[in-house]
Formats: sequence, C-alpha cells, structure tokens
Amino acid sequence: MKAFHIVGICHTTYLKHQRRFLFPAINWHWTEEQRHIIREAIARGDVILGGDMRCDSPGYCAKYGTYSVMDLRANKMIDIQLIQSNEVGNSARMEKEGLIRSLDHLKKNGMSTIKRIVTDRHSGVQKFLKSKPEIDHRFDPWHMGKGVGKKIDALAKTRGCKEVGPWKKGVVNHMYWCGSSSSSGREIVAKWKSVANHVQDVHSHDNEDFPECLHLPLVGDQARHWLKPSTAACEKLTDIIKAPRLLKDMEKMSTDFQTSSIESYHSVILKFAPKSVAFSFIGMMCSSAIRHRFGITLSICKTL
Ligand SMILES: [Zn+2]
Repeated sequence: MKAFHIVGICHTTYLKHQRRFLFPAINWHWTEEQRHIIREAIARGDVILGGDMRCDSPGYCAKYGTYSVMDLRANKMIDIQLIQSNEVGNSARMEKEGLIRSLDHLKKNGMSTIKRIVTDRHSGVQKFLKSKPEIDHRFDPWHMGKGVGKKIDALAKTRGCKEVGPWKKGVVNHMYWCGSSSSSGREIVAKWKSVANHVQDVHSHDNEDFPECLHLPLVGDQARHWLKPSTAACEKLTDIIKAPRLLKDMEKMSTDFQTSSIESYHSVILKFAPKSVAFSFIGMMCSSAIRHRFGITLSICKTL
C-alpha cells in the first residue's frame, strides 16, 4: 500500500480492529458451534473421544501447547485447551492438564458420561485416566506403531543390527493389523508376539490364541530377509517386540477408533498458522480475556 501511495489503515489500527471486533466475533462463533457439537454428542450417546497435544515451540521448549479433543464418532473437534507450560510447572505436565481441563469443560456443558477415550501412551494421561475407571482408556495404534518404528530405526543404526531396518514397515503394519483384526486385548497380544517368530521364518506359535500365521507359505520373491536366531539383531528386535510395558499397553490398543483425524487437524493448523505466526496470537490470548479458545487461530487464518 505504501509503495503505491494508497491510503489504508495503519498496522496498529488493523491490530486494534482485530482485537476489538474480529477475535470476539470468532470466539462467539466457536462457542456457539462447540455448544452444538457437544449437544449432538450427548444426544448420540456412548461418547467416544480422542485427545492429543500439539506443542508450539519455535525456538522455545514447548512453552505453549494446545490439547485437542475430538468426538471420534462425529469426527469433529469438540474442545481445544491452550496450556502454558509455566502454568502447570513444566511442559511434560501440559498434556495431562489439557485433558483434565477439557473434561471439566465438557462436564460443565452437560456431558456427564464418556464411554471411551483414545490417546497416546503419555504416562501422566494414563495415570489420570486410571483414577477414572468409568472411562475405558484405549491407546491409539498410530502412536504405538510410531513408537515401535522409532525403536527399530535406532536399533538398525547400531553395530551388527542393520538387517532389522527392512523389517520396520512390516512390523509396524502388523501392529495395525493386530488391532483392527482382533476382538480382545488377549488376541491382540497373541498376534503381536507372533511377529517375533515370523521374522525368523517360524510361522507356527506356541500360543493357543494365535497358533499359526494366517499368510500363505512365503516362497520366491515373497521370502523376506529372515533374521538368524540368536544373533544380536534378532535378540534385540525380539526384546523390542516383547517389552513387558508394550505388551501390557497393547491389550488396551484401540481396535476401532483412532486419533489420526486429530493429527490431520494439527497439520491443517500448521499449514494455515505456522508456529511462528500462531505464536504472537497465543501470546495475546494468554494476556487477554479470551485466552480459553485457541480454536480461533485456525478460523482467523482462514478469515484473513
Ligand atoms: Zn509368518
């Protein structure tokens, strides 16, 4: 505008308009929409929610985070909480705090019962939901697969273990299959443990819940680079697959609902509001009266 000598409002006025008119309008709209989404979820019954944290840390160590909760049946965001790490002590506690605030907010808006919540394996969240036995807490298969994949990647980088690398994709896919094809936690674990034999070209298993692999004999090109029993690579991969905490958590893997839509939502936010842009807005929100709705950011970026 300046370059072409076109008269326009100055930057300060622009920000003032934003703060006085645009933000409150978007806040009002989101509040109305949220009320509607909550009402719909309550009317549908058997509420199943998914929760996940997104940290905003451009050059900072997760100073802010947004905890997003989705109604997984309707595939709609039902609540978003903005958390500042120094409010809760440190960034590791933000995830649990986000969930607590979301559940409080939903309760205040009439959601008295929640059937199930799907999250990642964050220990603070696990501990908190243990104290709420009325809610069935399940773990998201995508997050679990990502964790195992990272461990296999790290193992493949160590000496004498690079042959586990090509198994990563197959093992992670097997994990998803275990979840989607099983009807009980016991069945998931039995199927999952069988992969430790499968990588060694052993396809019958000493387990009554899953005695044999379901695939046809793998011949020719289908034959994989089988791991030799008792080698470091094979032993260490088996340790990853049969880690006691992983097996315990696998029993609680979600078989039907996943939080992948929340991941998509977070990547959409990132596209419209890069972390560096969103940051100044979050800063403003924290010091203003409308700090309780970060969901506004996405709408603002679309509006602008
Ligand atoms: Zn097999």
